[in-house]
Amino acid sequence: MKIGRFVVDGHIHCGKKDSAKADSKLKGIWAEVESVDNSDMILFDMDVYGVDMGILLPSFTGTTNEMYKYCCERHPKRLRTCAMDCQTRIKAAHGEKEWNLSDSLKELDEVLTNGKDYFVGIGEFAPGCMGVVRKSYSNLERFDEWCAVAELAIAHDVPIFFHDYSDPTGLSRVEAFQVLNKVLAKYPELKVVIPHGGGDNVADIKEACLVASRAPFVYLETGYWRAEYYEIALKDHQLGASRLIWGGGDTGSRLWYPQATRPNAKYLEPTKVWYNRNNWNGDKREADYQPDFYGWPTRQIARLIDLDLATQDEINLIVGGNAARLYKLPVPELCTFACGRPDILVK
Ligand SMILES: [Zn+2]
Repeated sequence: MKIGRFVVDGHIHCGKKDSAKADSKLKGIWAEVESVDNSDMILFDMDVYGVDMGILLPSFTGTTNEMYKYCCERHPKRLRTCAMDCQTRIKAAHGEKEWNLSDSLKELDEVLTNGKDYFVGIGEFAPGCMGVVRKSYSNLERFDEWCAVAELAIAHDVPIFFHDYSDPTGLSRVEAFQVLNKVLAKYPELKVVIPHGGGDNVADIKEACLVASRAPFVYLETGYWRAEYYEIALKDHQLGASRLIWGGGDTGSRLWYPQATRPNAKYLEPTKVWYNRNNWNGDKREADYQPDFYGWPTRQIARLIDLDLATQDEINLIVGGNAARLYKLPVPELCTFACGRPDILVK
């Protein structure tokens, strides 16, 4: 049984090889990758679990907007993609040209202007964060950068992901969210998606929910959330079901996110992390990757009913309706949704 009437995965990473390029100057998780079309792999899983559409995110250095557009062109009824400043990041990684914001904005503007049919957002990394080779920056400098990025996103009427909160070479988590708060105060109409809903533990999710509750168009992507974590947002009267965007949580990124089992981690124990992927056995053989991205997060949605945390109308918003509205997806005419929260009409 499908988890909802129209199901959208809001966080997919096909479109790249899951190995570093041999000549990559960057190492580890930020290594440069090769852009390839492996979207058929995602389509198989989408079909198995009844996922109607997916949002691709060209997040890694080496991925290209062209390849992500090509994936969408091959599957126009199933895929849309966000845009990134891919070429600007690649040039900085190669040492060809120092990273600068104006090149990033120019690249994004061109992609969003020329690719309206398929490019529906920006992310999952905003220009200047997460793996970008660049000079360090202050809180104030990042605020100025985000203002320029926000104006671009508003001009194109697309949402932008905010992942600054866990940039290992950027601001601290607290400072990054301070910047976002200030940006949202200046641009309340800005549509923002917080990937992973801020994280995979209670303290981080509560912090992200607090930020989201202060502005009308901030959404939390929930692919990493256990069912119990949804309660934090669903019982917050400023948030509710209309602010949650379900996903597989880095769907298709097999190499980068193998996560070991932590069966003893407990709900509502802020210092412990509950890993959501539990079929990686921990050694380094080639076959050790995450093969099934949808099994766990679809079952968390089913558990929302068991835990009496959401109605099916609310679930329909979480697993597809909100994404359809945010990304202007082509929903079948006969597929209707409750407007905003079922109990509160929100435009
Ligand atoms: Zn991701």
